[in-house]
Amino acid sequence: MQYRKDKYGNELSMLGFGCMRFQKKGSKIDIEEAEKEILEAFNAGVNYYDTAYVYSGSEAAIGEIFERNNMRDKINIATKLPQYLISSRSAIDRYFNEELSRLRTDHVDYYLMHHMTDIAMWEKLKAIGIIPWIAEKKASGQIRNIGFSYHGNTENFLKILNDYNWDMCQIQYNYLDDVSQAGVDGLKAAAAKGIPVVIMEPLRGGKLVNMLPSDAKKYMKDSGRDWSPAEWGLRWLYDQPEVTVVLSGMNSVEMVKENCRVASETEAGSFTEKDFETIDLVKKAIRANEKVGCTGCRYCMPCPKGVDIPGTFRGWNLMAIEGKTQGRFQYAQTVSLTKDPCFASQCIECGKCEQHCPQNLPIRQLLKEADKALRPLPYKLGINIARSFMLRKVK
Ligand code: SF4
Ligand code: SF4
Repeated sequence: MQYRKDKYGNELSMLGFGCMRFQKKGSKIDIEEAEKEILEAFNAGVNYYDTAYVYSGSEAAIGEIFERNNMRDKINIATKLPQYLISSRSAIDRYFNEELSRLRTDHVDYYLMHHMTDIAMWEKLKAIGIIPWIAEKKASGQIRNIGFSYHGNTENFLKILNDYNWDMCQIQYNYLDDVSQAGVDGLKAAAAKGIPVVIMEPLRGGKLVNMLPSDAKKYMKDSGRDWSPAEWGLRWLYDQPEVTVVLSGMNSVEMVKENCRVASETEAGSFTEKDFETIDLVKKAIRANEKVGCTGCRYCMPCPKGVDIPGTFRGWNLMAIEGKTQGRFQYAQTVSLTKDPCFASQCIECGKCEQHCPQNLPIRQLLKEADKALRPLPYKLGINIARSFMLRKVK
């Protein structure tokens, strides 16, 4: 295993164990199988294990496994506060204490505000008193590092990042999400502050393995590299020195072995020009079925009416590549759950954006079509409910 450093110089394994995709036995986690996988990873040097309050059964399962194998002092636990469920300081304590008890530990190494999409969520937590709460927990040693996991757009990521002295952050990032969500700009901004960046969804939930078009597979095969699609995705990430830990939701011993091998072999800056060309070809093959040739360059932004133009096209394109549900889900996360709405329906057709688009896209017309596809009536209702819950104010 190779290691990269956190903010305070502690070594974190480049591969982290994402504990949310364990195999199930009936409706419960198959604890024997999970234990085998965790021990395989541990023996290969993996020292970072990521879970969350809302990953059903996960905190309790790993707590049991770590205790039984006397592992707690040899590994790092990252878990998350379900901030979207919280509206009082006493609730923060309640969730945190329950998590300690499930994990059978007296401290959490990396504690994250879960699933932030907008600065408004952080403002809400501050109004409740999260900053003195964090200070108290860090002083007592119950929390060693504080961070946040993020799914909104780049602008809001930077706002949250710059609003507090974070110890770490966790972002969705992979070769298809390089300019969406926090994106490469977010990754570099966090690294420039000296904080470790943990990567989730390195293979887009397995889709960069299971849903690759045949052309993309052929480009990988013809590249001269003997790498599997998963290996391409992981190596692309490890090549970037700003990436600290890559989480993989491993659920078989074989997967653990393969991922450990890749993490032990790959060094930052080891990608060749030909490797980058291969990734570009793979991306083009995946995007061949996209609805609109938006590159996410953002030259069209900001829109005076607040429309998130690239975010809208991104969701629409994902509907074409990965299916309606996935596209609408991504759109819901990055566009819908922001305090100031940025829906395509806010467009007044001033045409300003089209003057700046290097792809010469008829943005106004495309926005109308995208909005229709992304927000049919039932989704509009669902989004309104989610907005009023996730972005509610505390009294
Ligand atoms: S045409 Fe619409 S999307 Fe483009 S800048 Fe004007 S209001 Fe914004
Ligand atoms: S300028 Fe054009 S290509 Fe770039 S993000 Fe805007 S719509 Fe997409």
